[in-house]
Amino acid sequence: MTAIIFSALAMTLIVGVRYLLSSGGFALATRIKHPGLYRGLEPQMRREIGWSLASAAIYGIPAGVVAWGWQAHGWTRIYTDVDVFPLWYLPVSLLAYLLAHDTWFYWTHRWMHRPRPFRIAHAVHHASRPPTAWAAMSFHPVEALTGAIVIPVLVFLIPIHVAVLGLVLTIMTVMGVGNHMGWEMFPRALVHGPVGRWLITATHHEQHHAAYRGNYGLYFRFWDKICGTDIGLGDFAAAHRRRERAAADG
Ligand SMILES: [Zn+2]
Ligand SMILES: [Zn+2]
Repeated sequence: MTAIIFSALAMTLIVGVRYLLSSGGFALATRIKHPGLYRGLEPQMRREIGWSLASAAIYGIPAGVVAWGWQAHGWTRIYTDVDVFPLWYLPVSLLAYLLAHDTWFYWTHRWMHRPRPFRIAHAVHHASRPPTAWAAMSFHPVEALTGAIVIPVLVFLIPIHVAVLGLVLTIMTVMGVGNHMGWEMFPRALVHGPVGRWLITATHHEQHHAAYRGNYGLYFRFWDKICGTDIGLGDFAAAHRRRERAAADG
C-alpha cells in the first residue's frame, strides 16, 4: 500500500514539475518573442497555475497506480524489449495512441460544451481569455479526470514500447502548452499548407477559444471535418492588434 501511495505521489510531482517547466519555458519564449502579450493577465495566470497544479494530482494519481502495477505486477502492455514487435510497430503504436486520444478528446470536449457540463466544468478552461502558456492544464477537476484516465486505460489495451510512450507524453505536453500560448510556433507554410489542413496547432485551437464552439479536436482535424465542426484557422495578427488597441485605450 505504501508503494502505491509513494508511486502516486511521485507521479504527481513529476506531472507538476513537467507542467511548471514546459509552461514556464513557453511563457519565457513568449516574453522574448512577443513582449507584452500577457500584459495585464497576471491574475488570470495565477488562476491557470492553481487549476493546473490541482490537475497535476488528478493526472498523477491514476498514472502512479498504473506505473506501480506495471513495475510490481507486470500489468499493462508496456514493453521494454524493442524486439517484441516488428520495428514498423513503433510508429504505428504512436499513431494509434494519438488517434485514440484525439477521438476521446473530441467527443468528451464536444460533450463538455453542452450547457450543463460547460457550466459545471469546462467553463474553468474557457475562463482564460485569451489563454496563456500556463493554461495547458487549467481544467476543472471533473474535466481533468476525463483527460487523466486516457493514457492509463490505453496502456492496458494497445501494446507500446516505453520510449514511444515517453514520446506520446512529450507530444501531449508540447502541444497542450503550445496550443494555448497565444502565438504560432510552427512555420506559416506548415500551418497554412496541406499538413495544417489535418493537424491542429495553436492557430486552430485559438479559434476554439475565440468562438466558443467548433474546433473541438486535440491533434487532428479529422473529427471536426467529418462532423462539420471545423471552423477554420484563427488570425493571431488581428488578435494581437485588438489587444494592443485595448491596452492603449486603457
Ligand atoms: Zn472548449
Ligand atoms: Zn483550450
